Amino acid sequence: MGEPVLVDPGPPKKGNAAPAAKAKTGAFTPSGVSPNRRARRSYTIRLWAVKNSRFLEWFYRNFASAFLFLHPVWKKLGYNRVETPVTFVERNVKGLLFDCRMCGQCVLSSTGMSCPMNCPKQLRNGPCGGVRANGNCEVEPDMPCVWVQAWNGSRNMVAGDAILKVQKPVNQSLRETSSWLRVTAEAAAEREKNTAKEA
Ligand code: SF4
Repeated sequence: MGEPVLVDPGPPKKGNAAPAAKAKTGAFTPSGVSPNRRARRSYTIRLWAVKNSRFLEWFYRNFASAFLFLHPVWKKLGYNRVETPVTFVERNVKGLLFDCRMCGQCVLSSTGMSCPMNCPKQLRNGPCGGVRANGNCEVEPDMPCVWVQAWNGSRNMVAGDAILKVQKPVNQSLRETSSWLRVTAEAAAEREKNTAKEA
């Protein structure tokens, strides 16, 4: 076996470009860190969402009600058929606002509007032990820890204590599917079950 070839990483990279530069050197890079997907260097919009978590909580609640109201429409068109366009919209809207990774099991309302899938370790139940003294991530030193942000965001929210609820591990089979539609279909099924019970 030959000697490993070391590539000069060049001047230090900032933001999400750092993992790509690190990967080029042959150094270990966590598999969840995709140089392609982690392209954004600025966290401005993500931090805006956390700062405005109370407004977004209110907005999401009404948005979910509107989606549920439209359940007969989704049902008539077929949930499977509307999945592709709705997923497209969800990916782009939430991608812009939260750097959403389309895990398919959105927990934003329980995490102060800070998406936990942006954690390089993809932790869903709080920070690791590596948060820096300035509140940044140990893997990406210039990125604010998503869990520090989650806690800050949750303190502004009416139902912010939902952050204390233990989240299930990510079901990978739901990746790239629409959380909006799944939550709506589940809420509609629950509503129908309750109506049947009362009848
Ligand atoms: S929790 Fe999942 S669906 Fe919600 S914003 Fe993050 S990656 Fe997207």
